[in-house]
Amino acid sequence: MVIGIDIDDTLLDSKSEIIKAWEEYYNLYDLGNYTSNVPDNINTGWNDFYIRQFWDLYRTKIAERAVAKDYAKEALYKLKLNGHVIKVVTARPENQRLVSLKSLKSQLLTFDELILDARYKGETCKKHGIDLHIDDTQMNLDDIKSYGIDTLLFKENDNWKDKYNQILALARHKKRRF
Ligand SMILES: [Mg+2]
Repeated sequence: MVIGIDIDDTLLDSKSEIIKAWEEYYNLYDLGNYTSNVPDNINTGWNDFYIRQFWDLYRTKIAERAVAKDYAKEALYKLKLNGHVIKVVTARPENQRLVSLKSLKSQLLTFDELILDARYKGETCKKHGIDLHIDDTQMNLDDIKSYGIDTLLFKENDNWKDKYNQILALARHKKRRF
């Protein structure tokens, strides 16, 4: 199976770094109606000037500092041993390739390919032959599902031990279907 996995708040705990960065951003800039709390559209508000500016200013810092979620390293390694192909699919822009590769490697995360600039994840997953995609953003999963691709939501308090078992169960189920 070809498995697509998101980076931020799926493989890496980016949220705690985002909270710190947004607070700094709020203290340094006039953000109109925004408060010191991270806005809900932080991962989807690409058309919002303040959100775009935030990512332009802080993306690298957040990417460098975020650490892997519990058991992510072991789960990816074991999925590879089970013969699955792992494609990391992220909306991070192409100019974040080096910093992203560096952090994935320093966190010992095993993968086959890194796909950046995936703002429309359904289209991207289809193009790259992904059978199952795991992501923390429901909007992405809805888009991906519309292309007939299986999805799993990675919720804030989920862990990669459970997610690994869910992936294996789904892979077994798919095998029986074909
Ligand atoms: Mg994410």
